[in-house]
Amino acid sequence: MSLKSEAKTEPNIVFEVSFTQPQAHYADVKMEINNLSGNELILKMPVWAPGSYLVREFPKNVEAFYAKAGAEALASEKITKNAWKVNVRGKKSIIVNYRVYCFEISVRTSFVDESHAFLSPTGIFMYPDGGINQASIVRIIPAKNWKKVSTGLDNYGGQAFTYYAPNFDWLFDSPIEVGNQDVFEFTAAGVKHEVAMVGGGNYDKAELKLDMAKVVERETAVFGENPNKRYVFIVHNYKNGGGGLEHLNSTVLGASRDGYKDRETYQSFLALVAHEYFHLWNVKRLRPVALGPFNYDAENYTTNLWVAEGFTAYYDNLITQRAGIYTPNEWLNIIESDINAVENRLGNKTQSLSEASFDAWIKAYRPNENSANTTVSYYNKGSLIACLLDLAIINASDAKLSLDDAMRFAYNEYYKKKNRGYSDAEFKAILEKYTKQNLDDFYKRYINGTEDLPFAKYLNYAGFQLMVQDADQQKPYLGISLSKDNTSQIATVSRNTGAWVAGLNVNDEIIAINGERVSNALDYVNGLKELKELDFLINRDGVLKNIKVQLKPSASKKYSIRQIENPTEKQKAVLEKWLSL
Ligand SMILES: [Zn+2]
Repeated sequence: MSLKSEAKTEPNIVFEVSFTQPQAHYADVKMEINNLSGNELILKMPVWAPGSYLVREFPKNVEAFYAKAGAEALASEKITKNAWKVNVRGKKSIIVNYRVYCFEISVRTSFVDESHAFLSPTGIFMYPDGGINQASIVRIIPAKNWKKVSTGLDNYGGQAFTYYAPNFDWLFDSPIEVGNQDVFEFTAAGVKHEVAMVGGGNYDKAELKLDMAKVVERETAVFGENPNKRYVFIVHNYKNGGGGLEHLNSTVLGASRDGYKDRETYQSFLALVAHEYFHLWNVKRLRPVALGPFNYDAENYTTNLWVAEGFTAYYDNLITQRAGIYTPNEWLNIIESDINAVENRLGNKTQSLSEASFDAWIKAYRPNENSANTTVSYYNKGSLIACLLDLAIINASDAKLSLDDAMRFAYNEYYKKKNRGYSDAEFKAILEKYTKQNLDDFYKRYINGTEDLPFAKYLNYAGFQLMVQDADQQKPYLGISLSKDNTSQIATVSRNTGAWVAGLNVNDEIIAINGERVSNALDYVNGLKELKELDFLINRDGVLKNIKVQLKPSASKKYSIRQIENPTEKQKAVLEKWLSL
């Protein structure tokens, strides 16, 4: 089948989403398709949501798929996990109805209850196979007593709750919140921003407007332009909320309902705002080749999530510091704690950044009990790479340029001029241009390899030294963590520790040590003064076993950043530029 090119301005596809049983978590979708030709129509639903690198199998929530032309039912069949074939029989206009069960609370999945609906569009809307560029209209019919709709989609024809999507990539990138959210607005960088607060919270609107505007202004200054005229923040407030998902002209954030009055929680909320907002440039527009246009049927592989996510993670805190929300010292503490987290992560010696990016679909998003031994985060390690390169650029340019300049150049070159994704080599070439050095060796060791990052050298550019302290060599360390629900049960075993060498296993129940009944093996070991051998009695799947464990000291190190006493003029200038003082 084919859809005729649009001869008229009215889109051929009109969606109507209603909520006849919101308390049972259903969205009812009606899809009207006009100007059809041919006998067959294949409709598909994405299996993943861009920005969240996991195949989530959204069609698993679809039921009651039914096609008709006028009063006449049309036969249809499922042909793959995410495709339906409709026997159109030459009809010009058809209507497809289906229901979607929405009961997964997250920024990338849909949720409906009696109080509101959050529609994450990749799991709600279907598109005609081959028709991804078709425009559509989306009409929302709110449930009784729901009064508001918040979305980055533009209104269509001045009709209430009716929106226009120029193509399906756009629609899939435009989440929709329906209910009675608390909406407020502010203008920053010439862009009108709408904030939709869902679920209540102890936030102060005036304070948020001011602080969010500062973040927006600082980020726009990095790239020199803000591509949107309007931007929407949908904020879901939960007891313990967090996380976010970026979109072209909107974002969805999770926040803690009662955390706005706590300084640290509020700062990290604004850092999350900065993170998702920075993405409107870095990843939504400036992007690796694999990340747009998307294949919605399967994994989209890239080795560059350390740029897309890691650089964004670097900037989220840096911008928050530039906006005056973190003090420079608080910001340096974040860098220090990232260094500790990355360098002490055992998987940092197993998985490189490029591997972590490529395998995000099966590793980062599908962690298991062995993940700490085998994987590294492209967020915090990518952020530290950005930090080193920022310092390298500032140093190489005598404090005239920074990573900002490289990011702006990359945005102009690959989004504005070429309007395509960058390859790994192309992004590397930009970093080489600005750091004024060949980065073959840097990539080989730190991006594609697993060597310790060269913090001492780069931090020295800004007049800092890295202090490294080994763990107490006399203090016994077992190398396990215990289950939160049952402190007798082993949850993880760390590589190369005494427990790992001796063969204590995840799920083993520790009954006794040296003949003494114990309820918490870690408390027992922490009370010891020397590195002795212990005799563990464990229950493994109903069988009792004795395992001898030779305790060893912990291999973890403590890293700290200290300012050197007499920095040179150049080090002072680099520091000033780095902190944007
Ligand atoms: Zn991100």
